[in-house]
Amino acid sequence: MISLTLPAPAKINLTLDILGARPDGYHEMEMVMQSVSLCDTIRLDLGFAGGVRASSGLQFLPNDKDNLAVAAALAFRKATGQTWRDLLITIEKRIPVCAGTAGGSSDAAAVLRGLNELTDAGLSPQALAKIGEEVGSDVPYCVLGTTALAGGRGEALTPLSPLPPCWIVLCKPRFSISTPALFRAWDRGKRRLRPDTKGILLALEAGDLVEVTRRMFNVFEGVLLPTQQREIESIKTALLTAGALGAAMSGSGPTVFGVFREKALAESAVALLREDYEEVFLTEPLSGPLPALRET
Ligand code: ATP
Repeated sequence: MISLTLPAPAKINLTLDILGARPDGYHEMEMVMQSVSLCDTIRLDLGFAGGVRASSGLQFLPNDKDNLAVAAALAFRKATGQTWRDLLITIEKRIPVCAGTAGGSSDAAAVLRGLNELTDAGLSPQALAKIGEEVGSDVPYCVLGTTALAGGRGEALTPLSPLPPCWIVLCKPRFSISTPALFRAWDRGKRRLRPDTKGILLALEAGDLVEVTRRMFNVFEGVLLPTQQREIESIKTALLTAGALGAAMSGSGPTVFGVFREKALAESAVALLREDYEEVFLTEPLSGPLPALRET
């Protein structure tokens, strides 16, 4: 048996825009994505008897091919034509589930990167991202990280200048949001405000944190139910009052994040939000290559 442990970082959307519905049923997206230091930990035990399966100790997560990590392992084995039978994927979950922070997609991406290493397959990150496309729309981004523009369904990726150093507070409200219902609401809704994607790209290039945070925006915030909208707005207000330069909802929500220049302000925002919410995290943006793999 050979083993490897590696981190699977969460992501946030600095922007999320929908350019239109596509004939294939998907939507054409335009998103500025950022990996953050909040990570699940993935351990791969290749050759551990029992077929390909996941174990997280969490009853609400599947252990079979419905787990995105298992789906990624099966997609990798098929794409490479490898013939191994047994793989245990142990997931230590820290990223909130169904939160718009790509927890499942990141686990899947970590499995692809890890198996590439463990089996000496020698695939490029781009080839791994391609395999990830069939597992989920956010998986290619999670393979490549760290600051990127995602187009198409999310798979057309352009690396961007890193987000300047800052502190990012994540807060997940108690309700969950159905992603298909959000897309349906967007399809029905009037086109309201849109993010200034060109402007945020220029601000990233200039390394201007204030101009980046002024342009953070997610079109899904405009199609939430009124009760959801009120709670998202109240978390954003709490973050801004605590000194965040900007705040927005990530992905299909409901996680809200605020970007701070000062660690002390971010820490007091965390303390304040923890009075009302269980899932509050202090994170930093990741830049450069994703964290190195660790042999065990
Ligand atoms: P995204 O930001 O990519 O939209 P999300 O944060 O909204 O993702 P996830 O936490 O990735 O949502 O998971 C959504 C669904 O996927 C849940 O129903 C969950 O049961 C299922 N799932 C499958 N595998 C995993 C995994 N490894 N981790 C988390 N969820 C998983």
